[in-house]
Amino acid sequence: MPIYSAAQQEIAEKISSHNVTLKNWRDWRWQLKHSIQDIDTVETLLGIRFDPKKRKALEMTVKKFPLSITPYYLSLINTDDHENDPVFKQAFPSARELEIEKHDMADPLSEDKDSPVPGVTHRYPDRVLLQVSNVCSMYCRHCTRKRKVGDRDSIPGREDILKGIDYVRQHPEIRDVLLSGGDPLMLSDDYLDWILTEVRRIPHVQVIRIGTRMPVVLPYRITPELVERLKKHQPLWLNTHFNHPREINASAKEALRLLADAGIPLGNQSVLLAGVNDCQRIMKSLVHKLVENRVRPYYLYQCDLAEGLSHFRTPVGKGIEIMESLRGHTSGFAVPTYVIDAPGGGGKIPMNPNYLISLSTNKVVLRNYEGVITTYQEPEKYESIFCNRKCDECHLDLKLEDSTECAAVGIERLLSDWDRTISLTPEDNDRMERRTHD
Ligand SMILES: *Cc1c(COP(=O)(O)O)cnc(C)c1O
Repeated sequence: MPIYSAAQQEIAEKISSHNVTLKNWRDWRWQLKHSIQDIDTVETLLGIRFDPKKRKALEMTVKKFPLSITPYYLSLINTDDHENDPVFKQAFPSARELEIEKHDMADPLSEDKDSPVPGVTHRYPDRVLLQVSNVCSMYCRHCTRKRKVGDRDSIPGREDILKGIDYVRQHPEIRDVLLSGGDPLMLSDDYLDWILTEVRRIPHVQVIRIGTRMPVVLPYRITPELVERLKKHQPLWLNTHFNHPREINASAKEALRLLADAGIPLGNQSVLLAGVNDCQRIMKSLVHKLVENRVRPYYLYQCDLAEGLSHFRTPVGKGIEIMESLRGHTSGFAVPTYVIDAPGGGGKIPMNPNYLISLSTNKVVLRNYEGVITTYQEPEKYESIFCNRKCDECHLDLKLEDSTECAAVGIERLLSDWDRTISLTPEDNDRMERRTHD
């Protein structure tokens, strides 16, 4: 049975003077139409009042970083203690968003720089991010693309999207296409179906991914009709963004069930947020609820250096502490990879506690999650295979037609037998610069 809680009924009645039925409430378009975009309405609906001084600061914040909350997501807020509520903190502005710190950046991940055509970010060798929508049903206060939030002038049209898809078509190395935004599920079923069909028609695209927060902030968007459309474009993976166990209620579970039953693999990308989920017990409860609902915790992001997020940032040590509390203590598939998305566009860098204590030529000293120190004896005879990348002469079985040919890059290249590179040097290295002058 779908829920329609007392809090939800109360909000629905206040939003609309006529009778709001359960059917209205569960209609995603009704929810979008009644999204809350100003402080007054939040006060009315939650029955709270901000003091005048605080209000003024909030008004200024909303001018710079707009506000938008679905009635559904608002209904999850505990009005008895909204100040400490994890949903409130993610959805409602804080005057601290206006504190810009020295190291903050508008585009911390250099997504605009790594963009060969508008709406495409091509950072990694074999996959690209397509921004197919610039709007969301709820504006997360911790959005890394805060610079673009609410910028309705830059909503990509059919032409722009076709240009992005064309880019993918012309780059045979791209085997994985991520639809992102904004939220791709803000698009209509027909439009989304069209994009997916176009991308699917490209022979070298093996998988498509959708990144969406709809199961969290507007689970009613996941309709049986939408799922039927998505199903046609398998293999299709979907990643969502739960940050707190409180967000996983009956409605969210229903959305996840529809998707999982359609055979769509589900992942979750959380952001580590001060005052929301920077706690081992909250994180453990979150990952447990996720796997119970067939969602694999995928990434835990360190909060990045976008402007207006300083009050959400934790030290990296908090993330390591959380990882320490998960690995070994719970199911391996419930443990996400903790990453820092490198400022300047270096991509995601995994962060882990150290498990390797030491090593000699034949022994490795390790520690486990309990603090037990143990050793692993290396093999006495290992016939190392000299790799010259002539795979058709090698006795290991690799079906060349199934594999992609590419040159080793980065650290992989330093480790290879056949490439003579002995070091990687940043382009603007002063020491090297001196050599060329001397
Ligand atoms: C995160 C991201 C990807 C996907 O990375 P995975 O590690 O494969 O999930 C691709 N492109 C960009 C620009 C990204 O930020």
